[in-house]
Amino acid sequence: MSNNTVDVVLIGGGVMSATLGTLIHQVEPEWSIHILESRDEVATESSNAWNNAGTGHAALCELNYMPEGPDGSLSSAKAIDINEQFQLSRQWWSSMVQDGTLGEPSGFINTVPHMTFVRGEANVDYLRRRFELLKGEPLFSDMEFSDDAMQIAEWAPLLVERRSRDEVFAATRSVSGTDVDFGEVTRRLFDHLVADGAGLHLNHEAKKLHRREDGTWDVRVLDRSRRTTATINARFVFVGAGGGALGLLQSSGIPEIRGFGGFPISGKFLRCDKPEVVRDHHAKVYGKAAVGAPPMSVPHLDTRVVDGKTSLLFGPYAGFSPNFLKHSSWWDLPGSVRPHNLGPMLKVGLTEFSLEKYLVGELMASRDKQMETLREYMPSARSADWEMITAGQRVQVMKKDPQKGGILQFGTEVITGGEGTIAGLLGASPGASTAVDAMLDVMQRCFPEQFEGKWRAEVLRRIPAFGTGLNQDAAAAAASLAETSEILDLDAVKVA
Ligand SMILES: Cc1cc2nc3c(=O)[nH]c(=O)nc-3n(C[C@H](O)[C@H](O)[C@H](O)COP(=O)(O)OP(=O)(O)OC[C@H]3O[C@@H](n4cnc5c(N)ncnc54)[C@H](O)[C@@H]3O)c2cc1C
Repeated sequence: MSNNTVDVVLIGGGVMSATLGTLIHQVEPEWSIHILESRDEVATESSNAWNNAGTGHAALCELNYMPEGPDGSLSSAKAIDINEQFQLSRQWWSSMVQDGTLGEPSGFINTVPHMTFVRGEANVDYLRRRFELLKGEPLFSDMEFSDDAMQIAEWAPLLVERRSRDEVFAATRSVSGTDVDFGEVTRRLFDHLVADGAGLHLNHEAKKLHRREDGTWDVRVLDRSRRTTATINARFVFVGAGGGALGLLQSSGIPEIRGFGGFPISGKFLRCDKPEVVRDHHAKVYGKAAVGAPPMSVPHLDTRVVDGKTSLLFGPYAGFSPNFLKHSSWWDLPGSVRPHNLGPMLKVGLTEFSLEKYLVGELMASRDKQMETLREYMPSARSADWEMITAGQRVQVMKKDPQKGGILQFGTEVITGGEGTIAGLLGASPGASTAVDAMLDVMQRCFPEQFEGKWRAEVLRRIPAFGTGLNQDAAAAAASLAETSEILDLDAVKVA
């Protein structure tokens, strides 16, 4: 580890640090970058393929980005925004497949159509209205709708096999959907950074952050193999420690973290590797969340492509552990309580009854009950074919709210402080899919002058849609989808 002041320290070896480090290296190739990762490999927490669902979130199938208003109204604004964010990822990854950084694309991204499946008259009506609104939007123009069982069976046979003839159901499908192995993206980005001179320090856990009078940061680091400590001094620190970010940001003493707390929810999935089952499904099928359930609990039946092998995943089911990371301590939750976040945390605890009810229901659910939920999507599912796996921890953000005292937030929160010398990421949704958008936001907020100077041109060279978006220009949207599909070796998208 360097004894001198380095330009950038990235804490955490997940997709966010990998993305930010690579973006910074592209605009400032001479800057020294050091990565601290507490485990013996990168991408072992949320970014690992089996710790998340691998959905390239583009709002093609997730109903939570387009909820119905109390008066039944629908707005496509949020869905378009999420899709636009994913297009930035597609363009950036494409530029790096072209220059050789990311290697062969099928190792990290594959075409898997995105579908939405709903049951019951009211839900079918909602899905039809959602489709009518979205199909005119350029980034959604490959979306199809059907309430015909034969058609849906052609798209996804397992949804229909052994389903009662009396059931009313409907689906939409977008062939431009993707499955992404974010762990592989992370590993390939770090490999490239290290080959270009970045320092990757595995088994090195950041313990504490302290700002010097000259404005630089001392990061106190524990070498877990040798049980020794050291300090690394940096001009800019990114806290990409996933669930570990809250504690580190608190240790930095920046006022911007005051009032923030975290509540961990573990994700669990049923996984099936049986070739005779897996071969009959090729889609990511999202349903509707149960009333009162949080947005990230939307059930989905997914095709996954990991290490060249295809599996099915169904979930998420929720679990609880006070750890903020899969591999950390039960002390995380109680240890994160501070005088400034106690009020907001208590307020959330006293008001979020629907979340508490949902969690208790999930924790009490028997294996039979879990299989019953799966059979709502796949009536023919056999318990013996499915194994329960524990995925990553999501630390939901709780924060101060002037009106309510404290609120729970399901999105991502970028925290910056120290006049742009430190940034960190809290929360987990929409997550890895929008890492490029989130990290460009960090760069703009922390390095406004450099960004508006020479950085913007380099960013635009790789990500032409940055800043302008694509959806308002049908020709540009069609061209970008076609081009990125070709470079990333994805099925061609039919665009209007
Ligand atoms: C169940 C589940 C399903 C999800 N599904 C999707 C999905 O389908 N699509 C999607 O886009 N996103 C999804 N996400 C979200 C996505 O996985 C995350 O947003 C993303 O992986 C977060 O990346 P990260 O780099 O911030 O954190 P992580 O990948 O968690 O990386 C943090 C790293 O920091 C290290 N670390 C922690 N503390 C320290 C320390 N003190 N010092 C040094 N290193 C430290 C950890 O070991 C880890 O390697 C899902 C998440 C979960 C949990």
